[in-house]
Amino acid sequence: MDKIKMTTPLVEMDGDEMTRILWKLIKDELLLPFIDLKTEYYDLGLEHRNETDDKVTFDSAYATKKYGVAVKCATITPNAARVEEYNLKEMWKSPNGTIRAILDGTVFRAPIKVKGIEPCVKNWEQPITIARHAYGDVYKASEMKIPGPGKVELVYTAEDGTKESVTVHEFDGPGIVQGMHNLSGSIESFARSCFNYALDTKQTLWFATKDTISKKYDHTFKDIFQDIYDAEYKEKFEALGIEYFYTLIDDAVARVMKSKGGFIWACKNYDGDVMSDMLSSAFGSLAMMTSVLVSPEGYYEYEAAHGTVQRHYYKYLKGEETSTNPVATIFAWTGALRKRGEIDEIEELMAFADKLEKATIDTIENGEMTKDLALITELKCVKVLNTEDFIKAIRTTFEAM
Ligand code: NAP
Ligand code: MG
Repeated sequence: MDKIKMTTPLVEMDGDEMTRILWKLIKDELLLPFIDLKTEYYDLGLEHRNETDDKVTFDSAYATKKYGVAVKCATITPNAARVEEYNLKEMWKSPNGTIRAILDGTVFRAPIKVKGIEPCVKNWEQPITIARHAYGDVYKASEMKIPGPGKVELVYTAEDGTKESVTVHEFDGPGIVQGMHNLSGSIESFARSCFNYALDTKQTLWFATKDTISKKYDHTFKDIFQDIYDAEYKEKFEALGIEYFYTLIDDAVARVMKSKGGFIWACKNYDGDVMSDMLSSAFGSLAMMTSVLVSPEGYYEYEAAHGTVQRHYYKYLKGEETSTNPVATIFAWTGALRKRGEIDEIEELMAFADKLEKATIDTIENGEMTKDLALITELKCVKVLNTEDFIKAIRTTFEAM
């Protein structure tokens, strides 16, 4: 059988620990036998980031801007323990943070639905995708403890020295205060990423804030979304038969619980943080989520939503058997290959991505799965496989299709 040819390379960002082991297994068993894989390889493993003074992370992000599509393995974000463990020159920043800052994107996360692993919410027939704005609000806030009676004001000083102020509160005893901000440019990018992703995946887009209470802050989010929608996206949405709809955050939460799923839910930073954990646990597990960073210019970076699975890696190093779930990492690859196929108009590549995803899901639905899924499945006859055997089982299903 001829291997599928590619015309443009994918930006390949290798990573750390157990997911680095998965990375190689997936390539060897599921990709290289079938595709003449073209990638520009960047080793984001912590050792190599340290050797290059983290330059490799920046280079990989710039390469994503050049080629348009990247696939990323999970990477260690160093803390004090990692600095010691890897003898690092510095506590290098989170690669995801660096890449996000360069691409200026929004992160979309959606559950991978499998029969036998059912969401806790019975009426969720379709996946719900969370789009989280990744800049500002409470994550970049300034806070103060107020020791006793006194007045707190917000003061804006323009470049020419003119001032504008509002009273936050006249305290008659101790209390607390917080000042937060966002940027119109960042909200505009967020809105465009959401609208583009909705068009791309042909799904209706929901957006919700608390604009009735926050008449300037949250209302600005609402207005920016509406203005961009009306000016740039309305006709495209109508042509595809999808909708953009805005509602209050409390109403959105109530509707989500009663919905059948199958839409994108755009969330402000804090709402997205909280709601994505709620959704991923309600749908099953972090190892069954897709995650993609979409930039407003239309660059895509696909990854798994989970980390490097350190605990399993240490078992693996001791020669013990591990049952790490590779599904999210496989779907990062299929997402990137499908997007490459779409951009370069390579039908076979898109079909390959669809088929490999189906083979992965079929394998699980036939009862062969990793331990994390065996613990939550409603299927009766289940065979728990180790990491390598599960990937081989997917290959067997794929080749039989
Ligand atoms: P983690 O790698 O997500 O793993 C936490 C636990 O979740 C695991 O011990 C395992 O539970 C379970 N788990 C996660 N993914 C799994 C999978 N694919 N298959 C089976 N079980 C899975 O989080 P962590 O251990 O807290 O973090 C490890 C490293 O990952 C850290 O250095 C952190 O910086 C990094 N990280 C990277 C990213 C990223 O690059 N996107 C994201 C988050 C964290 P059991 O042990 O109970 O089996
Ligand atoms: Mg969180």
